[in-house]
Amino acid sequence: MELHVQQCQHCGSDKLKNILFRQAGEPDKVYAQCQDCGHFVASYVLAPLGYYHHGKGYESFLRSIYRSGEFMSGRNFKRQYEQRKDQEVAAFEQVIAKVKAK
Ligand SMILES: [Zn+2]
Repeated sequence: MELHVQQCQHCGSDKLKNILFRQAGEPDKVYAQCQDCGHFVASYVLAPLGYYHHGKGYESFLRSIYRSGEFMSGRNFKRQYEQRKDQEVAAFEQVIAKVKAK
């Protein structure tokens, strides 16, 4: 396992702003900008359904499925949403505990 708190390569700040960029037909992309000096820090391309936005609820989850083009009949989206929420919250808590232990 590797754990890395992202920092600005220009000024060393770890205060980053994540800008989610969405464009029809393209995978979602995140641009990270330093909040202290404004420099471009990093960009990421999100995998389909790779984005979980905590606290946004089931409607937001359905929209992400719609955007990803993932339509399969007979899926229990509500259960998928609940599982995803529980997994993401548990994973986030583990990551934060490991960052604190560093
Ligand atoms: Zn900076």
